[in-house]
Amino acid sequence: MKDAYPLDKDFEGLDIGYAKHDMAYRKIFDRCGIKYFVVGASSGAMGGSKSEEFMVKSDAGEDTIAYCEKCGYAANVEVAQSVSKPALRHVQSKQYYEISTPNVKSIDELCAFLNIDEHETAKSRIYIHDGKPVLVLMLGNDEVNETKLANFLGGNVRPAHPEELREITGADAGSIGPIGFNHRIIADNLLKNANNLYSGANKNDYHIGGIDLIRDVTNIEYADLRIVENDESCIRCGSALNVFKAIELGHIFKLGTKYSEALGVNYLDENGKEHPIVMGSYGIGVERIFACYIEQNYDDKGIIWKKPLAPFDIHLIGLNMKNNLVADTSNKIYDDLRKEGLEVLFDDRNDVSAGVKFNDADLLGTPVQVIIGEKNLKDKKAEVKLRANNEKCIVELSGLINKLKELN
Ligand SMILES: [Zn+2]
Repeated sequence: MKDAYPLDKDFEGLDIGYAKHDMAYRKIFDRCGIKYFVVGASSGAMGGSKSEEFMVKSDAGEDTIAYCEKCGYAANVEVAQSVSKPALRHVQSKQYYEISTPNVKSIDELCAFLNIDEHETAKSRIYIHDGKPVLVLMLGNDEVNETKLANFLGGNVRPAHPEELREITGADAGSIGPIGFNHRIIADNLLKNANNLYSGANKNDYHIGGIDLIRDVTNIEYADLRIVENDESCIRCGSALNVFKAIELGHIFKLGTKYSEALGVNYLDENGKEHPIVMGSYGIGVERIFACYIEQNYDDKGIIWKKPLAPFDIHLIGLNMKNNLVADTSNKIYDDLRKEGLEVLFDDRNDVSAGVKFNDADLLGTPVQVIIGEKNLKDKKAEVKLRANNEKCIVELSGLINKLKELN
């Protein structure tokens, strides 16, 4: 990791530092030749306000991103939003009533059992927030986005354990609902003011129909708590969102005064007045630059390095190192190239075949390969191969060093 935590005297200084880091990070990743995009993100456990991540699309990534190709909207699913069909408010509100639903646990089972649509159901999850139970109500099969929930609630939040569910609600997961739940209830925005809903009855094997969230759940709060799904509509332009895995290359965010206030880290201004210092937080996963570069630059033979990230400029292969002429020439070229300041990886093994050496050179992916073999040496020549496009040429030994300097 490369980390930076600048200390400023005010928020104006923080804004300037943030913009400079943003620009510097873009320059670094551009120069490395990495295709990346910038997403709005949660600043996570660290807190703070404005936050952006530099991401690279990759199945090997540990983050999930929602991205709109049409307008460029991009956000970590931890905070991503979409347009999705809300639950309805019907003109007529039914009275709520209990329904026997033996062995019905999931929303899909409930829909099949009652022959109803997912949009008429509300799923309940119980969380413990600073020691107190909270019921989170989601539309249909929507999953709770725990980052959004934590951001909304603040403090400590965790899912309730199965034993706690029974203790708090009297029922197991799959039979829990808002009616008769005497603690805090937060519903996702898609459920706002919905009626004629089906949910758990806080009694195993029972559900309740005809729930009117305005009439029956008077203390309800609403928030955006959903996890965005693939193909949902972009909140900016309405096009379909792509949701995919990505690697986080870098992260910049405004930490503000969260820690300086908590720890009492103040400075004295010109007039002797105390103020909390204002902090930014900027990081690059240096080793991830290499991982991301390789994810974007390879073929079936191996890595394809380019400057400036290539660990070596030239991969020098002495084909048959038991032959004195091959060994002497290769050693001399190695020394000459090093004198020119080039980084050379020299394959001087004398116990493997030419085929193994060629394959290893392609696998390691150094941009330029120089192949010294008996056949070409008879004509005082050597072979030069470019890894990226497999282009090969035969070069006079006398002009070899200059040719390789040109290629670098
Ligand atoms: Zn869009």
